Formats: sequence, C-alpha cells, structure tokens
Amino acid sequence: MTTTQTPRHAPMDQFTSAGGELLVNGIPVSRLAAMAGSTPFYAYDRSVVERRLGELRGLLPPGVQLHYAMKANPMPALACFMASRVDGMDVASAGELRIALDAGVAPSRISFAGPGKSEDALRQALAAGVLLNAESGREIDTLARLSDETGWPARVAVRVNPDFELRAAGMRMGGGAKPFGVDAEQVPALLRRISALGLGFEGFHVYAGSQNLNADSLIDMQRRSLSLLLRLASDAPCAPRLLNLGGGFGIPYFPGERRLDVAPVCAALGGLVDEARRGLPGVELALELGRYLVGEAGVYVCRIIERKPSRGHVFLVADGGMHHHLAASGNFGQVIRRNYPVAIANRMDVPPGEAVSVVGPLCTPLDLLADKVGLPAAGAGDFVVIFQSGAYGHSASPLGFLGHPEPVQMLV
Ligand SMILES: *Cc1c(COP(=O)(O)O)cnc(C)c1O
Repeated sequence: MTTTQTPRHAPMDQFTSAGGELLVNGIPVSRLAAMAGSTPFYAYDRSVVERRLGELRGLLPPGVQLHYAMKANPMPALACFMASRVDGMDVASAGELRIALDAGVAPSRISFAGPGKSEDALRQALAAGVLLNAESGREIDTLARLSDETGWPARVAVRVNPDFELRAAGMRMGGGAKPFGVDAEQVPALLRRISALGLGFEGFHVYAGSQNLNADSLIDMQRRSLSLLLRLASDAPCAPRLLNLGGGFGIPYFPGERRLDVAPVCAALGGLVDEARRGLPGVELALELGRYLVGEAGVYVCRIIERKPSRGHVFLVADGGMHHHLAASGNFGQVIRRNYPVAIANRMDVPPGEAVSVVGPLCTPLDLLADKVGLPAAGAGDFVVIFQSGAYGHSASPLGFLGHPEPVQMLV
C-alpha cells in the first residue's frame, strides 16, 4: 500500500493551551474576547516577540544591527514595545515615521525607504532628522533644495536595486526592472551628485525580497548584496557608516513550510562583518525584519455565527473575514490560495473530526478564511483562531469593504 503524506502546517508551538483553550501570553481566548469587548480581534503576544528577539540577538554577531520594518505591523503600542528592543526602525511612509517618533525612537535610529516619496514626506523626514533611503535622483534633488531652503542637514543613504535576483524569495523586490531603489549601474552617478550637492552620505540599503524560508538562499543574497555595496562604496563621497542588507526572513504560513533555520544565516553574517570592515573599518551592517519579528506572535480571532451545511459540505460562517484579514483569504499577493494555520480556539484538545470551510460574513466568494480544513466539530459561539497573523493582517486589509465594524487590536 502506498500512502501519500499530506503536507502539514508547522506546529504553532509558540502558543500553549490550558483546559482546551488557546492562551495568548497566558490569557485564555474567551477572556481576551471579553477584554476586547467584541469579536473579531487581533491579539499580539509580547512574550512571543520577546523570545524571537532574544533568540536572534543571541545568534547575531557584533557589528550587525537589528532593525524593525514597521510596515509589517504599525500598531502604535507594538511600535513602542519594539522601540527599546531593536537598534533601528525602518519606516515606509510619513505616517509610519510619526508612529516611530511617537514611540520614542531617536531620529538617529530611524530610516525612511519607499518609492515615490512626496515633497511633503521628504520635508517631514528632513525636519525630523531621520536617514532617508533615497530611491531616485528626484528625491535627492528635492531633498537638497529643501535642505538649502531650511538649513536643516540632510542625511541620505542610497537604496540600490541590485543587478541580481534573489532565488526562492516569496516576493521579489530587487533585481531586473523594479520601481524600488536606484539601478546599481546608475548609483555611481547618483553618488557624484550627492557629493556635488553636499548632502550627508551615510550608507547603502538593499532589499531584495521577502518571505524567504531558505537559509542558503538568504546567505547567498546577503553575500551578493554586500559585495555589490562594497564595490559601490568606492564611488561614495565618504566611507559609508551603515550597510543595510535588507532581510527577507520568512515565517511558515502554509502546509509543508518549515521554520527558517536562522543560525547559519547569522553565522554567515559574522564573516560578512569581517569582510566589510577590512575595507571600511567600523562599518555596521543592518538587518531589517518585519514579519519574522512579529508575524508569529499574532492571532486573529473571530466567532462562529452559524454552522451552515450545504449539499454535504459544512460552512462555518464567522463574524470575521477577508475585510479584516486579506492575507488569510488568499488575496494579498498569493498566486495559489492555501490555508493559513487555523484552529477552534476553545477546542484545542479535540482532534480534527470533519473537513469544513470557514467563511466570513461578506457577500463574495473571496471571503474564505479556511477552505476544507480538518477541525474539531464546532458551531455557533465557538472561536476560530488564525495563526501567523501578527504581520500584514489588520493594516493590510480592506477594513471598510462592506461596512462591517473594524476589529480591535490588543498587545497582550
Ligand atoms: C516590506 C519591507 C520589509 C519587511 O518585509 P518582511 O517580509 O515583513 O520582513 C523590509 N524592508 C523593506 C524595504 C520593505 O519594503
């Protein structure tokens, strides 16, 4: 007899349960729902973030800064929590910049990247005194003019669109024709312009892609990014102080995916620090991580309104859906729809008994949170939890679509 092994989700062992109920930082989900005042809600577990940061800190060699890419989850309370625990915060809009400043991150530790920064956004960054990761000659020219007009010194790094592509990354953001960064071959001319304009040059930024679960491919990406930046550094107006190698560390979302083994990636970075410092004494490397730091710490919890059989298939109709969690519905950049890890949060000790689909209250077939998943028998009033929801959940969802109430977010 041949058996085909169906791929399974990675165990969601960052959480525990008691009495059959999922705990988020020690608090049962039903109690959290009462704290939230209503379902659905997002809850982010501080202890899970803390553990992730601790593991990473223990592995990263000296000379590598750890930055938080706020785009993954810009909840202000979470930004405050991260502020004292990371070396830098990378923002991607003027709105995120304000959240970082409010959170108490020193402007010297904030960098601002993103294509198409408006003149207003550039002025805000200049006024705040943060590092601007310039993505075009227009940004440089505008910044120089604003700096002249105001007398405020500009701090710039150049975001480079590399001349290679990252293998095996979930989402490519560098290499080939891209709207992000300055094509590597155009960087020397831009550096001469930065020098002629007298702007304060601090370093480089490369961001080649996101959601990579393969250590070898990350090591390869970091090695190639560094050698590109060291080559470009010879044309810089002064020795760069910071080389931001991006990140792209992924987390397991789908059946068959396993957690990234970060130890070899961090070990390889030790060699890269040595290599960089041979030509550039004292230079620092930086990693900017979003989902890897916060994604596994978050859950989205909704409540079943109705158990609805239709022609032999059971739909659990929940009070939450794609308007709150676009990514879990499969509509946030996924090519093939696959299920996020999901459970019945008040029946964690019951084995799966039936294959059901969890849908939301929106009048569209896109509003599907889990398709034909094995779950313990459940019905009205039970809690559905979607794991891996701490990044690109609340802020990456069309919250106004169909006019349902927005979910509460809690840092627990
Ligand atoms: C989106 C983004 C990140 C964060 O990506 P994750 O996959 O969440 O780690 C980091 N840096 C830049 C420039 C980004 O655009």
